[in-house]
Formats: sequence, structure tokens, C-alpha cells
Amino acid sequence: MAQGVMVFAEVAGGELSAIAKEMLGVGRRLADALGEPLQAAVVGSGVGDVAQEAIYHGADVAYTAENDALAQYQTMSYTDAMETVVKQVEPNVLVVGMSDNGRDLGPRLAFRLNTGLASDCVSLSINAESKLMEAIRPVSGGNAMATVVIEDARPQMATVRGKTAEPAARDDARSGSVEAIAVEIDAASLTTTIVERVKAESEGVRLEDAEIVISGGRGFKGPDDFYGILEPCAKTMNGAVGASRAAVDEGWVPTQMQVGLTGKIVSPKLYIACAISGAAQHMAGCGYSKTIVAVNRDPDAPIYQRANIGVVGDYTKVLPAFHQKVAELLQ
Ligand SMILES: Cc1cc2nc3c(=O)[nH]c(=O)nc-3n(C[C@H](O)[C@H](O)[C@H](O)COP(=O)(O)OP(=O)(O)OC[C@H]3O[C@@H](n4cnc5c(N)ncnc54)[C@H](O)[C@@H]3O)c2cc1C
Repeated sequence: MAQGVMVFAEVAGGELSAIAKEMLGVGRRLADALGEPLQAAVVGSGVGDVAQEAIYHGADVAYTAENDALAQYQTMSYTDAMETVVKQVEPNVLVVGMSDNGRDLGPRLAFRLNTGLASDCVSLSINAESKLMEAIRPVSGGNAMATVVIEDARPQMATVRGKTAEPAARDDARSGSVEAIAVEIDAASLTTTIVERVKAESEGVRLEDAEIVISGGRGFKGPDDFYGILEPCAKTMNGAVGASRAAVDEGWVPTQMQVGLTGKIVSPKLYIACAISGAAQHMAGCGYSKTIVAVNRDPDAPIYQRANIGVVGDYTKVLPAFHQKVAELLQ
């Protein structure tokens, strides 16, 4: 019988990735609700230390699938490795974080395992009566949420967006077992080869990692205030600049700055939304922030229903005054 909650514990730069820590947090809650063990699947080359880290982050057992051909993520080799691990361990639930790699791996793996996949989820829980996983995912452009249940196939599989859950806390007093699973990878059969990795150039703190994000929307009426008002304010606070899709679609700022359903998900301590109305699709990207401050000249703007603090006013007046005060306080 399928047993346990398995998390694909993705490795990034030789370490347990940030999204893996979040998924171990999700998996731990599911495992506790089911009364079953939390299993981490660690795929790569030389990943013994990562497996131990997965245990420190909540796993009861870490299964390693090691092979030189798995040193870097590749669709086919990782699908083969995970298929071997899952078929051997037979987990009840399988959780994959939606990094670029997880997004790629999830559907292909589900097909190989002949199981159902709830993709792009924002929350997973266990139904107390049926003991089945309930996976919640946005539908209809983020205007509604659907609950997906996989009744018969195993494992019950879900891909989960990053930044939608608290990462598992590290506890190096935790103990668990590390078990190696032999995986055969026929390097000659791989149809793709990674020839080069190019790191994207970036200045300042990354939007996804920032503790403070300050975003602008269509109310800005042009790019000048993004770079003249918003960016200096963000720099003073060591924050990152985000934008609504409307501002991106206008061509004022690059796509990488878009926050929302079809942009990035952020969960900073402080999210300041300036001249953004608060459409469901935007809030899908910033709703996990600890504190949301809205600056809008329309007192009836929908964003005030979600904001913790609302400032009704023109951003061209509010933001420079706010920036000046912050700069004084930080001196
Ligand atoms: C499938 C789908 C996916 C989507 N994905 C995303 C996404 O990822 N991210 C996203 O953001 N949107 C997304 N959208 C679009 C979303 O529905 C909204 O259209 C968009 O978020 C609106 O952007 P906005 O709030 O900047 O603009 P508007 O809705 O036009 O709001 C502008 C706001 O600025 C205020 N304002 C104007 N001037 C000032 C001023 N001087 N001072 C203060 N306030 C002022 C106005 O009162 C208004 O509230 C998506 C839509 C769909 C259908």
C-alpha cells in the first residue's frame, strides 16, 4: 500500500534549494495529518550532505538517487531517476515545487507514473475524513479557486508554487535515515546536452528574495516615475521594484518585474502597492506578503480590501514624502 509523503527535494548550486525547504514544510504538515513519514527524494551527484539537510528540514527519510549523469537537471534523466525512486518507495503523496525544473518535471513524471497531477497549487491539505489530499489551485484567471482531489491513482501528485508556504525550520538535532536508490541512466540515450550556463545579470536585491517590495501600476502613466520615484525609494530601503501587468504591458518596465498570477510570486515582509487597483491576478502574486500597504488616490479601490494599511492619495506626493522620512530614519 502506498505510504508516506514524498517531496522532490531539488538541489540548487550543490545545496538544498529554497523551494525544497518550502515544500518540506508543506510535506511535513501533510505527513503529520496522515500519520505517515515524510520522505525527501534527492536527485543529483554527490548529494549526501543535501539529503542530511533535508532531514534537518523535516524529512524522516531521505532517498538519494545519485549518478554522474544527474549532476545537472535535465528533463529525461531526472524523470527517469524520479520514476525509479517513486516506483521503489511507493509514496501516497508526491509534492514537487514549481521552480523552472519542477514545472518541467511534474507533468512528465505524472504521465510516467500513470497518476493524476494537480498543477500550479497554492495550498495542500488532508481531508480529515477521506484522508485524501485536497489541492487548491487558482482557475479562471485567478478569479476563483478549485479544489482538486485525486481519488484512485497513487501517488496523489501536486506541483506547488514557491513562496506560498513557510519554509521548514532547520533543526540539526533532528535525525532520520538516508537511503541510496540505484538509478541507471544511459547517458547516450539523453537527447539533450547542457552546453553552457549563463547567469542573468541583475542589480540589487532579487524581487523574489526581497524583504521589501515596492510596486507601481498603470496609475504611473509612464516609466519615468518608476525610475525617478519608485526605484530610489526601493534602493534606500534595500528593497526591490515590482510592477503590475498593466505597467509591463504598457512597455514601461521589463516583464521580470511583473508580480502576479502570470508574473512572480513574492512574499516580502512589506509590500507597497502604488497606483495599483488590486485585481485578483495581481493579488495572487503579493497576497502572501506579511504586510501590504496600498497607495491609491481612489478610496474605493479594491486593493483596500486586502491591504493592512491604506494611504489614500496621489503617489507623486505620498512617495517622495515617505522616501524622505525613511531616509531620515535610516541615517
Ligand atoms: C489571465 C490573466 C492573468 C493576469 N496576470 C496578471 C499578473 O500577473 N499581474 C498583474 O498585475 N495583473 C495581471 N492581470 C491583469 C489584471 O487583471 C489587471 O488588469 C491589472 O493588474 C491592473 O493593473 P493596475 O492595477 O496597475 O491598473 P489599473 O487597474 O488600471 O489600476 C490603476 C490604479 O491606479 C490608481 N491611480 C491612478 N493614478 C493615481 C495616482 N496619481 N496616485 C495614486 N493612485 C493612482 C487608480 O485609482 C487605479 O486604482 C492578469 C489578467 C488576466 C486575465
